[in-house]
Amino acid sequence: MSFSSRRKEMEERRDQRVQREDAAGKLAKRAPDLATLSLVIRETRPEGCVSNTQYTRRVVVEHAPALFEVPCSYPQCEDGGYDVTREVLAALAGHQEKFEGTVSCRGRCATLDCARVLHYVATATYRKERTAPVDAFPRVTVTRIT
Ligand SMILES: [Zn+2]
Repeated sequence: MSFSSRRKEMEERRDQRVQREDAAGKLAKRAPDLATLSLVIRETRPEGCVSNTQYTRRVVVEHAPALFEVPCSYPQCEDGGYDVTREVLAALAGHQEKFEGTVSCRGRCATLDCARVLHYVATATYRKERTAPVDAFPRVTVTRIT
């Protein structure tokens, strides 16, 4: 594949992503009382081992689209990626503070399925003003180390 067609393909993919983000709408609208959200993402190969990657993704709640797609980190994977949008939005709608899930990569490497697995652990906090008054002086737990 020539460089320019590869580049065009990447641009098309980016455009498609922007379109999907527009269609998904804003996260703040889908989960209006969500305050913070972070995802610890771990990607593993089916063989288990060496190239496992893990990172934390902090979601900017005010600006993020209601779309949770994680690209596959394997460079040879085509059309790869993980879509956890539905599970995450459902958990946020249920005000879950900690939830996790596992999805397989939908991409292919040459003629084989990519089969990488993504495991995420999400931690969310919610604004409480709708259900309880805001505590002006939040209690802080101090652990004294002696
Ligand atoms: Zn993949």
